[in-house]
This record gives sequence, C-alpha cells and structure tokens, in this order.
Amino acid sequence: MTKSTPQSRKDMRARTKLVHAGRDPSEQFGFVNTPIYRGSTVLQPTLADLEARHTKRFTYATHGTPTTEALEKAWSEIAGATGTVLTPSGLAAVTVALLAALKAGDHLLVSDSAYLPTRTFCDGFLRRMGVETTYYDPLIGAGIEALMRSNTTAVLVEAPGSQSFEMQDIPAIAEVAHARGACVVMDNTWATPLFFPPHERGVDLAVEAGTKYLSGHSDLLLGLVSANDQWLKPLRQTFDYFAMCAGPEDVFLGLRGLRSMDLRLREAERQGLALARWLSARPEVSRVLHPALEDDPGHNIWKRDFSGSSGLFSVILKPASKAAIAALLDGLELFGLGYSWGGYESLVIPFDCRTYRTATVWNPEGPALRFSVGLEDIEDLKEDLDKGFARLRAQA
Ligand SMILES: *Cc1c(COP(=O)(O)O)cnc(C)c1O
Repeated sequence: MTKSTPQSRKDMRARTKLVHAGRDPSEQFGFVNTPIYRGSTVLQPTLADLEARHTKRFTYATHGTPTTEALEKAWSEIAGATGTVLTPSGLAAVTVALLAALKAGDHLLVSDSAYLPTRTFCDGFLRRMGVETTYYDPLIGAGIEALMRSNTTAVLVEAPGSQSFEMQDIPAIAEVAHARGACVVMDNTWATPLFFPPHERGVDLAVEAGTKYLSGHSDLLLGLVSANDQWLKPLRQTFDYFAMCAGPEDVFLGLRGLRSMDLRLREAERQGLALARWLSARPEVSRVLHPALEDDPGHNIWKRDFSGSSGLFSVILKPASKAAIAALLDGLELFGLGYSWGGYESLVIPFDCRTYRTATVWNPEGPALRFSVGLEDIEDLKEDLDKGFARLRAQA
C-alpha cells in the first residue's frame, strides 16, 4: 500500500484524518500504532552529531519524542494549525497559551463566561506578574473595541461558556483584536476542532482540554495548544521555558482517543440533543441552555460558525429548595455527581455563576444544573431523571 501524507490528506474529511494522521507503521516495524517512548536522553553517534543536535528530529525528551510528535502532528492536521504543544492538563494549556502572548505591563481581556480556573490564574498569577485583566460581556462581539487599550495584547474567548453556554461572535472579536495587533486565545474544549475550526475563524492560539473529548474515558489529564503560523514560535518558546511536558502514557491515551473522537463526539451530540429536548419539555425545567436548540439566544452564531455540538449543556430549573435539589441529585443511579466531562459516563453538577461573575449579572429564575451526557441508553437516562424529578416534587 502507499502511505498517505499530510499533503495527500489535505482535502480528505476529518474522520479520515483522525484515523491516519500522526502514525507511520514503517517506522514501527509495521505495527499500526506509535508506541509509548519513555525516555529523557537521546544518544548521538558522534561529536559532530552532538554539536549539530538542534538540527535533529529528537534531541532531548522535553523537546519531544516520537509519541508526542505523533499527537502534535495529528492534532495540528485536524485543527488546521501550523503546530501544537502538549501539556500535562487543560489548565496548563490555558496558562502556557496566555503566557506566550503576555508580558509585564500588558492588558488582557477575558470573557466573563470563561472557565473558572482560567480566571483564578488571571486574578492571581498574571496580576502578580504585572498583567491587568478586564472581564467583558461574552455577547460583546465587535463592541470589544471600546475595551481595547494601547497595551491590550491578548483577548481570551471561550464559546460556549462551559457552564452558562453563551455563544461568542469569535470572527467579529478576532477582527477587532487583530486590527490592534492583539493575540486571540480560545478555549475550544467544548466544540473541539471537529466542530469549530479555530484558526479558520481567526483564533491565533487554540486550547483544548484533552482531558474531555480526546480522552473520552475519564482516565487522563492532557492539554493541547495549537497555533497558527504567526504564533507558533512564541508558543514553543514559552513552552520550552517551562518544559511543561505531558507524560508519555497520557499522550499515548490521547492518540488512542483521537482515532474514535469523531464517532464519540457525534454520539455525544445526538444523545445531548435528545436529552436537552426532553428536559425542555419537563414542567420542572424553566430553560435549557444549549446553543444547538433552535430557540437558544446563541443559536444563530452557533449555526453560522459551528458544525456540531457536544454533549455538555445546562438547564435552569423552576425555583426549588436546596433540599429538593439534593433529593433529585442524591438518588440518581446513572448520573455521576462530579467535575469534568466528555467521558463515556453521564455526569451532572449544580453550579452558580453569581459567585464569580464581574462584568455581567447572572441571576437565573431557579437553580442551575449542568449535564454531560454519556453513552448510556438515552431511555435509561430519562428514567433516572424522571425518578429524580419525582423526588424533587415530593420535597418541594
Ligand atoms: C476541564 C476544562 C479545562 C481544564 O482541563 P484540565 O485538564 O481539567 O486542567 C479547561 N477549559 C475548559 C472549558 C474545561 O472544561
């Protein structure tokens, strides 16, 4: 057979790329997968080779191994990026991306809907390093112009917000940011590059928590940052300062997850929409926050810019007591009560954005719950929730 190459795969579909990118059996004695390379030292045969090590494919494991190279290359291919770095967690990917774009004295704009630990990093570490952060209304669009200062060097977007699910007009924000020379950093964990091609839409540095849909099995922590041509060099340099490397087993599991990511994501979309529609018809539910639902305020932007939705969404319940919510959640048999998402198993958590929002008011009419829909049979999931709602009504 003839080997496909990144060049020959260029016009192929994402599913094909996911299967073939980042592996070369001819380099692995014919074995299909790139194995786990454990190691630090890379030996050079001669003094001349040692002195010319910076021209070699591998020099020292903090700069990459065949295992990390495989995932970096595959991810760059599906993200439409020039290059990718792998980090030990999704949060580490956020921090390395921001640090690649910022220096002391700079100003950073962050969506008020951003992942909470991202805010903690901005308010704690970045402030300590002399970077000022302003939070903005996620729905601001091109209006972000009014918040740009002469020292604004980065804008962080996240769409949709992973609790509150506002959609952001990323192309409009990127246009304003680029006119001012600012870097656009996106947390693209929800859609992944399969449903939102970040660099085509104006994102310079795109972050993915591989912990979620790349893993798909709640068994690893991993982060990825992909960069366009302009931002790859600063990203690599910052990454190298920290040597913030992901472990070889986790990278291998990331590669393993990659091969079936499209299938799992499409199933998450199907299951997520089915459960979201069922919940929106429930008398206990006031609103469902899911941008792929036709009546969602972010639906038009989602339809314009995204090609799919994942299995994570929220609902606002009608007013209910804490005891009623506890009765609903504590008795669930199939939905686990825990953080993270994107695994094969369904999860639910209560949340309240009021505790951290500063640029916008979050004041829903009732308690909020976030669901990550797994691969269980949807009818069993509905029955589990149906019994939960009965417990909620009995407590109210
Ligand atoms: C989980 C998550 C992260 C962080 O990933 P970890 O691997 O848990 O550090 C970042 N952004 C979003 C939107 C997430 O949901």
